[in-house]
Amino acid sequence: MKILAIANQKGGVGKTTTAVNLAASLAHLGRRVLLVDLDPQANATMGSGLDKAKLKHTVYTMLIGESSLSDTMQVSESGGFDVLPANRELAGAEVELVEAEARESRLKAALADVADSYDFIVLDCPPALNLLTLNGLVAADSVMIPMQCEYYALEGLSDLVNTLRRVKQGLNRTIEIEGLLRTMFDPRSTLAQQVSDQLVKHFTSKLYHTVIPRNVRLAEAPSYGRPILSYDKSSKGAQAYLQLAEELLARHNPAEAAHPV
Ligand code: ATP
Ligand code: MG
Repeated sequence: MKILAIANQKGGVGKTTTAVNLAASLAHLGRRVLLVDLDPQANATMGSGLDKAKLKHTVYTMLIGESSLSDTMQVSESGGFDVLPANRELAGAEVELVEAEARESRLKAALADVADSYDFIVLDCPPALNLLTLNGLVAADSVMIPMQCEYYALEGLSDLVNTLRRVKQGLNRTIEIEGLLRTMFDPRSTLAQQVSDQLVKHFTSKLYHTVIPRNVRLAEAPSYGRPILSYDKSSKGAQAYLQLAEELLARHNPAEAAHPV
């Protein structure tokens, strides 16, 4: 079992799109997957086909101890994975957990009970280095960092790397950078190409070969509550996320990836 946090404090870089579609792609490849929505915007919840207005229990009630994990659990029919959903209430966790005991490791404790039931647990983090993201980083084995190849991309990366360093020194000594993912890539843009070249130079082994192209079908799918594989399997976006899942599996277990289930 592997817990993967999808994080970047920069907004709108493709974290949620990656979390939902990687979860669905891993499920499609026969893996047992749980998606955890750690963002009060609840985009991953809605993108998985769940109605955030109808939820009785959420990650928020779970983190403050008012619901159990099994009460909170939902199923994404369109994605083929389980979901711990969010809604706007989750923003209150920041305030309510400040005084709480072990406030940074609440999620880790909650997930310990279901570790054996999944092959991958994917955490969709909010665009901030706050207590919710910290709960994600403390629970995670590794971090996947989606980034757009634009001018300021590298600057934001150093803040995240510093935060990871601090987490590694104290709260989670074994956390690693899983990899950097180029998202919304437009090969015709000279700037995107230049930034991409820089990433290749600086992060060689940590950079996924798979590049997620800008693809309008990926942006449309969430409004139907579907991952791209369920919305338009033949689209470039669907093929890219499937390829990402295969690359991830190959990195973890080369032998297994040669014989996909
Ligand atoms: P936030 O920081 O607000 O949580 P995020 O990092 O989770 O944002 P997304 O919500 O995944 O980013 O993506 C931002 C917007 O870009 C969304 O409208 C999404 O549909 C769109 N988008 C994401 N990836 C792609 C892509 N490869 N091609 C086209 N549109 C995309
Ligand atoms: Mg998001």
